[in-house]
Amino acid sequence: MTDHPRIPLAGVIGSPIAHSRSPALHGFWLKRYGIKGHYVPLDIAQADLAEALRMLPKMGFVGANVTIPHKETVLRLADVVTDRAALIGAANTLIFRKDGKIHADNTDGAGFIANLRQHAPNWNPQAGPAAVFGAGGAARAVVAALIEVGVPEIRLANRTRTRAEVFRSDFGAKVTVHDWIHAGDMLEGAATVVNTTALGMTGKPDFRIPLDALAPGTLATDIVYTPLKTQFLIEAEEAGATVVDGLGMLLHQAAPGFERWFGQRPEVDEATRKAVLGA
Ligand code: NAP
Repeated sequence: MTDHPRIPLAGVIGSPIAHSRSPALHGFWLKRYGIKGHYVPLDIAQADLAEALRMLPKMGFVGANVTIPHKETVLRLADVVTDRAALIGAANTLIFRKDGKIHADNTDGAGFIANLRQHAPNWNPQAGPAAVFGAGGAARAVVAALIEVGVPEIRLANRTRTRAEVFRSDFGAKVTVHDWIHAGDMLEGAATVVNTTALGMTGKPDFRIPLDALAPGTLATDIVYTPLKTQFLIEAEEAGATVVDGLGMLLHQAAPGFERWFGQRPEVDEATRKAVLGA
């Protein structure tokens, strides 16, 4: 037995994982706060996930982030699942507890809201309906968070309508489902507009909707952050909306994990953004 203190390790589990900005982000915070710890990318195949989760704590890992394609599977492998992770149906943050149990949480929704609060401090989620485009995994976290902060109605449209209809049964009557081809109509009277589809990402077609019904001052946000300013945000800004890009969601969702693993609440500020953008 050794009584040398162990250097805490954390990482991001996914496959592929080389593109992930999380190591740059956590690495920046570790350096900023002078913490002796490491955060690494962990490329783990689906078939090896259960064994990896059993072994990582034994190797000095205190927790991990989880990304595609493991966010749903880890819920079945965790011992303790928070209510919000269960509702969303996915986890992005694991804590390997000292008692050997794996605690799974989802901080994407909280990160989404914290980003809007930081960059649009006058945003009032209760002022009117939210128009949400997309019904994938990230949309579940966004919709759960919008309901939690008191948005009165979530108008949801997805290319595959049946996926949006599942939201209505999972999240309740605040969710109304709209046709993808008439989705621009959802903007009428909306206080918040969110693109959660993968459209607009570098290499994909732009996310384009008619913005005639967009009232000036409406909050428009895109959770896609490559590029930082998507075509949707450019057009929404031209139409008079207050726009917030998606990078802050990534930064804020990471903060609770960092705090639990390394014992320091990290600040999400301009230097943090720059560190991740420069990576
Ligand atoms: P996902 O579960 O695969 O869902 C993808 C969504 O995009 C679905 O609604 C899908 O519609 C829609 N979509 C894809 N291609 C489309 C097309 N050609 N036309 C219309 N709709 C299309 O992915 P996800 O995990 O939700 O992620 C979605 C995006 O959010 C990604 O770009 C991801 O990088 C980003 N994201 C950002 C953050 C952040 O921290 N900022 C966090 C999580 C995710 P169908 O159901 O019809 O296929």
